[in-house]
Amino acid sequence: MKKVLSVILVAVLLLSVAAIGFAEEKDSTFGAYKRVFIIGIDGAGRFIKDADTPNFDRIFKDGAVDYTARAEVKTDSGPNWGAILTGVSYFKTKLDNGVVGDVERGADTDYPTVFNYIRRANPDAVLASYCNWSSINHGIVENDIGVEKVNIGDDAKLTDAICEYFDAGNDPELFFVQFDSVDHEGHSVGSKGEAFFNQMNVVDGYLGRVYDTLEENGLLDDALFIVTADHGHTTIGGHGGITMRETNVTVAAAGKTVVKGGKFDSDTRNRDVAAMTLYALGYEKPEEDFTARIPANLFEEVEGEARPVSKDFADYIISALAWVVTLITSIV
Ligand SMILES: [Zn+2]
Repeated sequence: MKKVLSVILVAVLLLSVAAIGFAEEKDSTFGAYKRVFIIGIDGAGRFIKDADTPNFDRIFKDGAVDYTARAEVKTDSGPNWGAILTGVSYFKTKLDNGVVGDVERGADTDYPTVFNYIRRANPDAVLASYCNWSSINHGIVENDIGVEKVNIGDDAKLTDAICEYFDAGNDPELFFVQFDSVDHEGHSVGSKGEAFFNQMNVVDGYLGRVYDTLEENGLLDDALFIVTADHGHTTIGGHGGITMRETNVTVAAAGKTVVKGGKFDSDTRNRDVAAMTLYALGYEKPEEDFTARIPANLFEEVEGEARPVSKDFADYIISALAWVVTLITSIV
């Protein structure tokens, strides 16, 4: 009898351990990543889809890619990099190109970046932002929160510096990159121009170099790797309006919990990169004005969140109206 009881006890214990193990394995994506890399390609919009980008294709072969995420209604760089990094609408941040070029931001800003949220929770976090367009590191990323900021106005040299940073053994929790040369060609030749697509191919080469350097340094294992764009370009070049070519942008993610071949829902915006970043690293979603959300079909076993429109009703109404105009003008 005693022996039978012992066997039952051992069996129950083993089953409990197995159940705990199973539960851990089924744990959500929340906090499942040690590091997030956000690679921004300024001006690329949705057009990565139509360019020759072998590196982008291999990186996101098992990832989730959306070419029709929406930009902020004012399709300029400041409003969109501002929204991508803060998770707050341009209507609230007012981070237009002039403001981000003129006004530095400090730790106590009303609309903190994801860097700032991470810093507040983790004083030891290694954070870095490598940009071609220096205004991002001037007027969007806060100045006194210990983010290593590097500005290099040449994408090739920027790539060299990024690779050197990782080869030197740095292991940041959040690393942001902004390439700018695609946008320059967009302004020159428009979103049908050959040089625009050729430059997309060149920057895809830089993307591949960065990715391979991360892999060589063992930094991809627990990483969420994101590529996004701030806006696109009209056919003649330029942006700021609400045509499809300007408002549709790429958001792509690769990582161990990302749905392979996932197609995000239609409410996805580039702003949502902020929510994806905090969620992956295990930081609670900020209150107040944060209106980024986790799209459906991004992370396995994680349902898409509703956008908290009541927090920012003006943005919701204006964005919806602008989208209707965009749709109508794209048909006629
Ligand atoms: Zn831009």
